[in-house]
Amino acid sequence: MKKGMKTQKTWSTPITSEKSALVPCALCGKEDFKPYLSGNGFSYVRCLSCNLVQINPQPEQSAVHKRYAGDGYFNYELSNERAFFRLGKLTLYDANISELEKFADQIGNRRVLEIGSATGSLLEFLVWRGWEAQGVEISEKEAEYARTKRALSVSSFPLEENNFPDNYFSLVIAFHLIEHLNNPAAFLREVKRVLAPGGRFLVTTPNVDGFQAHLFGNKWRSAIFDHLYLFSKETLSQFLLNEGFSLEKIVTWGGIAEGCAARPIKRAIDWAAKLFGFGDVMMIRAVKKE
Ligand SMILES: [Zn+2]
Repeated sequence: MKKGMKTQKTWSTPITSEKSALVPCALCGKEDFKPYLSGNGFSYVRCLSCNLVQINPQPEQSAVHKRYAGDGYFNYELSNERAFFRLGKLTLYDANISELEKFADQIGNRRVLEIGSATGSLLEFLVWRGWEAQGVEISEKEAEYARTKRALSVSSFPLEENNFPDNYFSLVIAFHLIEHLNNPAAFLREVKRVLAPGGRFLVTTPNVDGFQAHLFGNKWRSAIFDHLYLFSKETLSQFLLNEGFSLEKIVTWGGIAEGCAARPIKRAIDWAAKLFGFGDVMMIRAVKKE
């Protein structure tokens, strides 16, 4: 494992050749791009109309799903489980989980869905907090691990194939997932369908307009083969608004990677990044309107 990776979920699949095709902008549908970042296994373009950054040509969905089927991905998730759990918990606190629990109790619906639930450590924590938890994890090995080691209910089908009932969950979580998906708009539409009116969606993803992205360019740790999209606060917000969500809170974290500066300097930059919104990773708390 590379230095500095411990604190972030940045799995990178060994690069293979896959079937790919040129696609229009996933946010505005236009086809005018300029090259953005490129490196080993990735070539991003930025849409001239809406600024969305995406890998183009884009690999087919079936190939993308295969990336997460192997032992490598499972072992990566398992060996980083504690670090990811700690980050997930901090994210829930930043999203004000106790406020969301009050709302859930008011409407009598403590059902939570985590999409990309990995080995299930965060879901287990939510069960401990009194939630009825459901996971979705396309890595069958991870789903199986969560089922057998943690007695959790986890499906290994992609979200859209589960046919969860309408208005079913009062909380849906997707941490470091949306950047891996071929069709973020279709994903958000399904999230909204399964959310109860007034229910919240918490989403985290790397911030392409953050300090580190600008500093490192092609070498930014989130510019990788596996991230089909690199969102900014503006582009991710627009996706959510297009699907009918209202935005309640946007937070960014992480000004500089571990090991790049002395600790007090790192602490100061991290603090400023969070305050001014140029952090490396962002979280949006969105609500499904009544
Ligand atoms: Zn566009």
